[in-house]
Amino acid sequence: MGEVILKPGREKSVLKRHPWVFSGAIERVLGDPEMGDTVLVCDSRRQPLAQGAYSPSSNIRLRVWTWNVDEAIDRSFFKSRLEEAISMRQHLRQMENGQGTLSDAYRLVHAESDGIPGLIVDRYADLLVLQCLSTGAERWRQTIADLLLELTDAVNIYERSDADVRELEGLESRVGALRGEEPAERLQIVEGALSFWVDYRRGHKTGFYLDQRQNRRRVGQLAHQRDVLDGFSYSGGFALSALKGGARSVMAVESSSEAVALAKDNLALNRLPEDRLEWAEDDVFSALRKLRDRNKRFDLIVLDPPKFAPTAAQAERASRAYKDINLLAFKLLRPGGLLVTFSCSGGISAEFFQKIIFGAALDAGVEAQIAERLFQGFDHPVALNFPEGAYLKGLILHVK
Ligand code: SAH
Repeated sequence: MGEVILKPGREKSVLKRHPWVFSGAIERVLGDPEMGDTVLVCDSRRQPLAQGAYSPSSNIRLRVWTWNVDEAIDRSFFKSRLEEAISMRQHLRQMENGQGTLSDAYRLVHAESDGIPGLIVDRYADLLVLQCLSTGAERWRQTIADLLLELTDAVNIYERSDADVRELEGLESRVGALRGEEPAERLQIVEGALSFWVDYRRGHKTGFYLDQRQNRRRVGQLAHQRDVLDGFSYSGGFALSALKGGARSVMAVESSSEAVALAKDNLALNRLPEDRLEWAEDDVFSALRKLRDRNKRFDLIVLDPPKFAPTAAQAERASRAYKDINLLAFKLLRPGGLLVTFSCSGGISAEFFQKIIFGAALDAGVEAQIAERLFQGFDHPVALNFPEGAYLKGLILHVK
């Protein structure tokens, strides 16, 4: 087995069980390991600390599989990790039962946070969609696919290994049926009281923003008799939740024409009152300005933009974008209105996000209070040894 020897003092994060080893922490590599090989991680005195998957072209040079240096990384290793991930969802889904959020679409495996770095598995009704984001996950994908068939009642697995981060790992994109048959072009899922079409082949991520499930439900609860704006609507998740919750009117703004088309089909699927929903295929930054110029006002505004800052390097520029849209949203809210605002940027902490929102409120000349903090759903857990897993943060702000 290859060995990765760390520089003196650089074993600290491995000892604290952080699953990533960066190239800068490595003194030398013995045994000429190849992409995806399991290697031993050793401190500077060659004491073994962990085993992980080697990724020669990535800045994250190694992702730890286990801190047990005697454990075999084989089929049964992945079996027990997958079993844990699956049973965690079974337990927690029971809590959701009766709360009106029960869904047949949820994340089954959340990579580092489930102890399987780089592996995403999402469940959409009978279909599993698998995404490999690291050389280690890539190496074991066939074994993992077999195990998923064994451990779940799914028969079809589709692969969506087409995320940009694969490039950093030196991996090419791969999309297509991995097990079973390729199901219909798109499929229907149930989320609480709503149904949605999921374009698992071409849609964003693996087809749906599963991480916002409980927040869509929350918006549904708050929307009764309100004029709602859903900014960055994708396939209409928040817009339809608001409509179902009894909103007086909903305006959904989304720049992608494919997403708007899907959202319109979702509206038809749920037989909701079409006359209360207006679609704007537009850029949110300019749409908010147009609405301001027309003196439009809302009681509830949702802003769920894409990742403006994937890493801390983009945080400064991204903060201006967040401030801009939130400032405009504050101005569009009636007194007593609610702003439900999100950031899914790994490069922006919850604390920094709150500061940005404060700056936006100050400049908009409004006084606002945090009424609730929002988070990604429990099927996107955060391992305590991997705080980077807490990427989605949201605030519900009440404007005085
Ligand atoms: N709230 C959605 C997910 C939103 S993801 C849900 O619950 O499903 C972010 C969306 O913003 C994507 O659909 C993307 O196409 C869209 N988008 C990105 N930049 C945009 C812009 N400048 N204006 C409008 N929409 C944008």
